[in-house]
Amino acid sequence: MKLYRPSMMHALREGGTWDVCIVGGGATGLGIALEAAASGLRTALIEGRDFAAGTSSRSTKLVHGGVRYLEQGKMALVSEALKERDRLMANAQGHIDDYGFLIPVKRRWAQCYYGLGLRLYDLLAGSHRWGRTEWVGRREVIQRLPHLAEAGFIGAWRYRDGRFNDAELALGLAKTAAQQGAVLVNHCRAEGLIKKKGHLAGVQAKDMVTGDTFALDAKVVINACGPYSDALCRLDDPSHENELRPSQGIHLVFDADVLKGDDALLIPKTDDGRVLFAVPWLGKVLVGTTDTPVDQLDLEPLAMEEEISFVLDHANRFLGLQLKREDIRSVFAGLRPLIQGRKDNTAKLSRSHEVSATPSGLVNVRGGKWTTYRKMAEDTVRYLRKHCGLEFTPADTASLTLEMGSLPPRGMHPSDAHQLASAVKQAVEEEMCLTVEDFLARRYRTLFLDAKAAQRIAPEVAQLLADIRSKDANWVAGEVRSFTELANHYLPAHTP
Ligand SMILES: Cc1cc2nc3c(=O)[nH]c(=O)nc-3n(C[C@H](O)[C@H](O)[C@H](O)COP(=O)(O)OP(=O)(O)OC[C@H]3O[C@@H](n4cnc5c(N)ncnc54)[C@H](O)[C@@H]3O)c2cc1C
Repeated sequence: MKLYRPSMMHALREGGTWDVCIVGGGATGLGIALEAAASGLRTALIEGRDFAAGTSSRSTKLVHGGVRYLEQGKMALVSEALKERDRLMANAQGHIDDYGFLIPVKRRWAQCYYGLGLRLYDLLAGSHRWGRTEWVGRREVIQRLPHLAEAGFIGAWRYRDGRFNDAELALGLAKTAAQQGAVLVNHCRAEGLIKKKGHLAGVQAKDMVTGDTFALDAKVVINACGPYSDALCRLDDPSHENELRPSQGIHLVFDADVLKGDDALLIPKTDDGRVLFAVPWLGKVLVGTTDTPVDQLDLEPLAMEEEISFVLDHANRFLGLQLKREDIRSVFAGLRPLIQGRKDNTAKLSRSHEVSATPSGLVNVRGGKWTTYRKMAEDTVRYLRKHCGLEFTPADTASLTLEMGSLPPRGMHPSDAHQLASAVKQAVEEEMCLTVEDFLARRYRTLFLDAKAAQRIAPEVAQLLADIRSKDANWVAGEVRSFTELANHYLPAHTP
């Protein structure tokens, strides 16, 4: 399925009245678009920036049950996520890696404690289990990860979980939703909500490319704006008070050789009770994350200095690594759309999701995580049938194969000029890529893997995009300028 933006925009504007109009094109919105379209509903989705430009391209890249939630007693949450992990593995064939994660331990009591927890993890997965957790003795751990010897570990538990490319899966969901009849447009913002007799009847949309504003009529409007959902609620009711308590998480990216061996690592408890992962990913290693409550919701959240120091310090102390600031290739930050609860500690707020509607009929879908996007979508579409007067037979997406396309694995951009030109063309014509950022952040992951390399290639990508999209030299200069500025935020402050 090819996603071509001009055709999608035409279909959106000429589509008449939609059964559902979804606002937000991250994991939540794209999952709902697929579920609704597969259930036969006339479905439109608008995304203000690019698909997955929000939190959904900034995750730890894990398709997981969430080992750490066991300690909080959230068995149902873990069990549901493990089921979804397995379904996604089957539905996005070849795009989810069954991966080994080591939890190194220093004391016998910790060996017993984490061993019991991981046995429970295996048990909760039931028939969806991916292999059995195993104990790896000190000698083998040292062979796999020599730096752990210096940190004094007696061995490690090795369990299995999934690893994925979040932005790639988002595009796969968009393609599959379009294949099922949904119309999806990126760079198109909801700027207002249309009401008739006090009830929501559509969205006032703005095409961010042309600046045109237009009305989209819809029987139901769904708010899938992730951490930004409270702002959309205020378009419905200006007196709406925040119901989300967003929390920021950052990752530092290093060259692959900082971590010897193939396994990912999990430190189950850092100084303040958080977990820290080191995950080999697309030829680099991601280390994170943090859990910092934030009041201001930037579209491009910035890693704080104390977060960078926290991750560096813990990776070095707990994993025997010797990472330095100058080794950091990229830093990226994302906002968790956590549902409001205790204000002092966002690490303990709910990761489960919630579907509800305002008195005027705006359907809000909040919380959740990437791994459970399909379950969130299923619950949302069931809610539409029960509470919003839409009649249809819900689809069975639990076994629906996702169209991930036949594109090569997307990590760094192609270094060969000819291959780069054809990759840019394909991204524009088949994946609705419009800007240098769309290409280097989400079609390829260069910005996340190596921000300086992304800055170096940006002028060439801008020129290729301009040739395809008939843009002039001013456009190229503007794109290079804004991308260079953006990429500076992916480099720690001191980087020369
Ligand atoms: C640091 C971190 C690590 C994580 N790691 C994992 C992990 O390893 N595994 C896992 O399963 N989950 C993980 N999660 C959770 C997961 O990434 C999120 O739950 C999920 O991506 C949220 O998706 P979303 O669609 O709700 O929000 P977003 O992805 O933020 O999507 C919301 C979209 O709405 C758009 N939008 C906002 N306002 C408007 C408007 N007015 N008009 C049009 N569009 C609008 C935004 O541009 C945005 O693209 C992690 C989260 C964080 C922060």
